[in-house]
Amino acid sequence: MNWVWFRNDLRLSDHAALSHAMSLQKPLTALFILNPEQHQIHGEAPQKYEFIKAHINDLVTRLKKLGVNSVIHTVGTFGEVPKFFESLVKNNSIDGLFFNRNYWLNEMKRDQGVEQVMLAADIAVNSFHSNYLLPPSQVRKGDGGMYHVFTPYKNNFIEQLKAAYQQPLPIPEASNKQELSGDSPEMLPVEFKLSEYWPIGEAAVAERIKSFLQQANYQQERDFPAIAGTSSLSPYLAIGVISARQCLAHALKVEGEAAFNSTWVSELIWRDFYNDLMHEYPKLAKHQTFKASAKDDWVRDQELLEKWQLGQTGFPIIDAGMRQLLAEGWMHNRVRMLVASFLCKLCLLDWRQGEAYFMTHLLDGDLASNNGGWQWSSATGCDAAPYFRIFNPTTQSKKFDPDGTYIKTYVPELKEVPAKEIHDPSTDTRKKCTYPEPVIDYTQARKQALNWFKD
Ligand code: FAD
Repeated sequence: MNWVWFRNDLRLSDHAALSHAMSLQKPLTALFILNPEQHQIHGEAPQKYEFIKAHINDLVTRLKKLGVNSVIHTVGTFGEVPKFFESLVKNNSIDGLFFNRNYWLNEMKRDQGVEQVMLAADIAVNSFHSNYLLPPSQVRKGDGGMYHVFTPYKNNFIEQLKAAYQQPLPIPEASNKQELSGDSPEMLPVEFKLSEYWPIGEAAVAERIKSFLQQANYQQERDFPAIAGTSSLSPYLAIGVISARQCLAHALKVEGEAAFNSTWVSELIWRDFYNDLMHEYPKLAKHQTFKASAKDDWVRDQELLEKWQLGQTGFPIIDAGMRQLLAEGWMHNRVRMLVASFLCKLCLLDWRQGEAYFMTHLLDGDLASNNGGWQWSSATGCDAAPYFRIFNPTTQSKKFDPDGTYIKTYVPELKEVPAKEIHDPSTDTRKKCTYPEPVIDYTQARKQALNWFKD
């Protein structure tokens, strides 16, 4: 019996490990391992865990139709997984193990442990690249080093991507050689409360990407949070319900070759860039700054932090973003940049507190992209925004949410405030709407931050 181990690749299409294992026409078991304690150690959103379980249930049902039985095991942490494989090997017949590679520190340690167990038992391990556009460490400067600036990385990346591009793999065909043995596992109990925003399954995601690429005017609309101008695919990419290559293939279908150089594909390349950085510099997974010389004596202010977390800063666009995160497990990218800049560059609170809070609430919480986004915002990261680029929340709000539609959606107490006042309501209006006064004075905070960063 061959075994295919699903991890952050919860899909049947463009799943290299599954396709290869199925092509061998031998009996196959699908393995899912839940790591509830690891989720907690990584500080991931409880709803993300439910989202994962809902997708596992969906896959178990669909795999059965392909003639593949599934087993689901719960093993607390990644560290315990190799030991679990020892018992799996002892109690089952395993000819070969198939999985798609993960590239981060803890995940790689886990996989190396599993490979040792398999090697000792003389079982072949077949691992594949499947979750990013290109494998990390492939796009490098002439001297072999990692790029520290995104644009030249991207230019080199696109050349290599064009040369290596292959169509995504289809869902493997059901094989009549498969023998279904054993019972299907019980469906996992799931308490996913966000399906209104994030429907379950590959079919829903395929619909989403098709309608996004046909209807959206990404270049013009992606910065306006009140408009559905971005794909909203990040939660699905984070757990692999869709692959990056599938995203690219859809874009190529709609735009032809021009898609390689499109702004949207450039965002997908940012995802690869941050993954590549996380792989190359494991210190990033250990709360360390990319820039060794970055300032690190951030202000400690629990009360201010909590106001930011709960969307009670008195800056409507910031509060709308933080409340969108609480309500939907997601936040628009432009607003993520604003709330992050607000936390680190105006309040001078430690970016790690923002990173951790995002992780515990985002459905798309992704170690590499989240860390990259926070280090970019706090001027501590690779190719980060310079310290003096401090967003003014009020002018940004006027520019990107001119009539206040986004604000009114998530800060309902300001619903009746006219557009010209909504970005910075008067004291009277705030009182009437029971909306708080600003927690900082922007001009002073900016001055103080510039001095602090320069110091
Ligand atoms: P689209 O604009 O449609 O882009 C398509 C895909 O490209 C996204 O789904 C995502 O996978 C990728 N992408 C887009 N922008 C970026 C980016 N700047 N960096 C890396 N990948 C990108 N993204 C996450 O997936 N997980 C995170 O935990 C995360 N944390 C962030 C924290 C901060 C402080 C900031 C500023 C950004 C963060 N991002 C994160 C990146 C970005 O905000 C989201 O990927 C994006 O908002 C998702 O929306 P979308 O799917 O509509 O993106």
